Amino acid sequence: MNFKYKADFKYFADLLSNGDIVKFKKQYKDYFDFRDPLIKRKEFNLLRDKIFKDLVKKYNGKCQLRLVKDCSVNATFVVDHFIPLSSNILNKKLRKLKTIKGKKVLTQSFGSNNPVNFVLACSKCNAYKKHRIMNIPN
Ligand SMILES: [Zn+2]
Repeated sequence: MNFKYKADFKYFADLLSNGDIVKFKKQYKDYFDFRDPLIKRKEFNLLRDKIFKDLVKKYNGKCQLRLVKDCSVNATFVVDHFIPLSSNILNKKLRKLKTIKGKKVLTQSFGSNNPVNFVLACSKCNAYKKHRIMNIPN
């Protein structure tokens, strides 16, 4: 896992493996892909329909996020990346980068299109989650 910043590696290891670096490297390496997000986005768009069908089957049409009280109630479903393809959250949180002249804070490439990184999300949870990176309740 080629994280540009050590602090980012630590952030994800803390979030996903309670700081256990060995476990994190072993269990989460396939969740990350540091290539240009545009390339990953293109790949994802080509696969999206198939991934969606596979996830609906795999999870029996149930939302994997379960973040809101009325999760799945009258909701539609989408494919969500557990680790987002790109995010500027760590640039904001850890490096305190600020917006300059109305431009958004620079994003970094993180998530992969590996099947392990996909979750089936109801539209309500997806809207709640937005671009946050969070662990999913098991
Ligand atoms: Zn939900």
